[in-house]
Amino acid sequence: MSQHANLTVNGQALWHDLVTTAAFGGTEKGGVCRLALTDEDRQVRAWFEQTCTALGCTVTYDSMGNQFARRPGTHDDLPPIMMGSHLDTQVTGGRFDGILGVLGGIAVLRALHDAGVTTKHALEVVNWTNEEGARFTPPMLASGVFGGAFTEEFAGSRADGAGITLRQELERGGFVGTEPCGQHPAAAYFELHIEQGPVLEAEDRTIGVVTGVQGMRWYEVVVRGRSAHAGTTPMPMRKDALLAAARMIEQVNAVAQAHAPEGLSTIGIITALPASSNVVPREVRFTVDLRNPSEPVLQTMEEDFLQRMQACALENDVQVTVTPTWNSPAVHFEPRCIASVKESTEELGYSMRDIVSGAGHDAVYVSRVVPTAMIFVPCLHGISHNEAESATPEDVTAGSNVLLNAVLKADHLF
Ligand SMILES: [Zn+2]
Repeated sequence: MSQHANLTVNGQALWHDLVTTAAFGGTEKGGVCRLALTDEDRQVRAWFEQTCTALGCTVTYDSMGNQFARRPGTHDDLPPIMMGSHLDTQVTGGRFDGILGVLGGIAVLRALHDAGVTTKHALEVVNWTNEEGARFTPPMLASGVFGGAFTEEFAGSRADGAGITLRQELERGGFVGTEPCGQHPAAAYFELHIEQGPVLEAEDRTIGVVTGVQGMRWYEVVVRGRSAHAGTTPMPMRKDALLAAARMIEQVNAVAQAHAPEGLSTIGIITALPASSNVVPREVRFTVDLRNPSEPVLQTMEEDFLQRMQACALENDVQVTVTPTWNSPAVHFEPRCIASVKESTEELGYSMRDIVSGAGHDAVYVSRVVPTAMIFVPCLHGISHNEAESATPEDVTAGSNVLLNAVLKADHLF
């Protein structure tokens, strides 16, 4: 047991913070529209700064506008232990995605502040700029620069629909710090987040101990057959690209079934040409999204998928080409950080399971340079990126208590 095992977060204050921040960009349907670096985002950033300053923190920015609230430790020469996530949302976003990770971090700071406890390491709560990618694509842009996935020049040059760049908006907000992004030292990073999926709720478990993030590969498939008259071409003489694509789609599904339950495959977009109701389609394009927590298994799935596409094309007398369009390798979080989360959950007596994140998070990129783990709590019906996104006060408090205790364990480990 840790020496501060009976410290707990103030769940009411946490819930109050969730309600308060939901007003910045709050929508009529009870969701939040707070795109990165808009006036609404500037409001919540100002709130973050005031709230953390009142808890005895110093708030600084790096060159990507990432906000760091630092609570000093007794050994301030050590790199800090970080907690956090993002305060920006989707256009029709909810009150919890990202926000919970930042406010859970604040709840930890408040618990220590109220109890008069000083940790060995300094503790920091970070708000990563533009996680959602809803205004400036791609997602996880500033944590991506932090983790070395993107250059700062690339990130700064990303423009929104009106042609305004992220760099311009950082400057307008006064969010450009002198510290180059990625040079901020950190001993460990913990991100609390809603699951954004249905598993914890379905199994009635409070905490997901996140061991990593699944790998993801995207492809574009082009099937070429031959256009023909729908009334005059006998069935055996057709090269129907859409019929072949339909059979291929069954095969894409079979790839995931062969690697159940972790393997996932999705076709999200399909187009047929010439798109006329009385012409046999000559060309079909569809997208494929393959996912698996294990990189070697994902590789096997890819080989299986490519083989099935070729076999199906041969059987249906059409041509097929498959082009990879995106590849996000599987992430495995750091064992000591995962253990800190798991042991804390056990000691607090919450029900739990190990879980692999199906979605991307700031922690993906941060984990490239800092020992990292994540904590999931259930969200209603697994719904996220939606104004109906919801989580219970009990669960968000439980998640924040796990965060608090994981940080205290890490304070001794690192
Ligand atoms: Zn998020």
